[in-house]
Amino acid sequence: MKLSFGNLLFAASSLTAVNAFSIQRLSSVSTSTTSLDARRPILAGNWKLNPKSRDEALALLNGLSPSPSDVDVLIFPPLPYLGDVLKALPAGVQVGAQTCSNYEEGAFTGEVAPSMLASMNVGYVLLGHSERRTLFGETDSDINARVLTCLKEPNLKVVLCVGETLDEYEAGLLNSIVDTQTRKGLSGVSAQDLINGRVVIAYEPVWAIGTGLTATPEQAQNAHTVIRNTLAAMYPSTAVAESVRIQYGGSVKPESIADLMSQPDIDGALVGGASLDAASFNAIVGGASTGAAPVAAAAPVSYAVPAPTVPSSFPSYGGMPRVVEKYVPPAPRM
Ligand code: PEP
Repeated sequence: MKLSFGNLLFAASSLTAVNAFSIQRLSSVSTSTTSLDARRPILAGNWKLNPKSRDEALALLNGLSPSPSDVDVLIFPPLPYLGDVLKALPAGVQVGAQTCSNYEEGAFTGEVAPSMLASMNVGYVLLGHSERRTLFGETDSDINARVLTCLKEPNLKVVLCVGETLDEYEAGLLNSIVDTQTRKGLSGVSAQDLINGRVVIAYEPVWAIGTGLTATPEQAQNAHTVIRNTLAAMYPSTAVAESVRIQYGGSVKPESIADLMSQPDIDGALVGGASLDAASFNAIVGGASTGAAPVAAAAPVSYAVPAPTVPSSFPSYGGMPRVVEKYVPPAPRM
């Protein structure tokens, strides 16, 4: 668990605009440990459009270890695998969807509504991933609409991704991009939902996603401080900025997780490529845990299936009784 906000380092060194909130934290750090304690590490694997078949997905799932009891572990498989994955989850591992509709129901072919996900015991939805923003044209306002629709479902939580592109980074725009995406993505979200942990933010510099380039722990810490400052500016209650969990994402590997987690404002990781290898993902999760025992396996979930209103099987055409009237040839004409 994160016991400090961390920005002591910043206060001691360079006093830039981004650590205004950090400095504020110095005076309150000893009095508000409750919400800080709530920032349990959260490690998530984003499988994206992988693996190619249900069998491979179940094999990957089978390789995952039960979650250690001091961290939250979450996977985002492709939608078609969700049903099977939910039935075969290792103890303590939770499931999320990689996207969802901003519509609640109706004539929207191909869409998946938050209520459908919640009704299947899916706990999280990933929103605002840079691939959705850049490849599928999702804007901040589209993403915000999805966030708000998800939060109408009491049992759904959101992982909201923000992060700058390489051009933006090189142009010195990191702070303003991350600030804007956070503000727009969270527009209309209540302080209470944030304090209750219903939104996790993932800082993912686009230049580090799938490239093998990782932000240094200090760069990531700096960006996470920007996000906390934005939260502090948006919400009068300091409990919001103190309690929202912020993951880092971008080429996280077993070798980099410990240094990232040692930063006071990094509360976990969103992992793409390395989550497709069960051993790597297990090692990343292990690197964020203090070595706590795994969560005990829960009793198997029994799904209450309503009685069918239509026959559960239909006879094949071959088995259908066919009524064929006997052919009676006409009487021969004389
Ligand atoms: C991601 O897709 O969210 C991600 C961080 O990917 P990778 O770990 O492969 O960079």
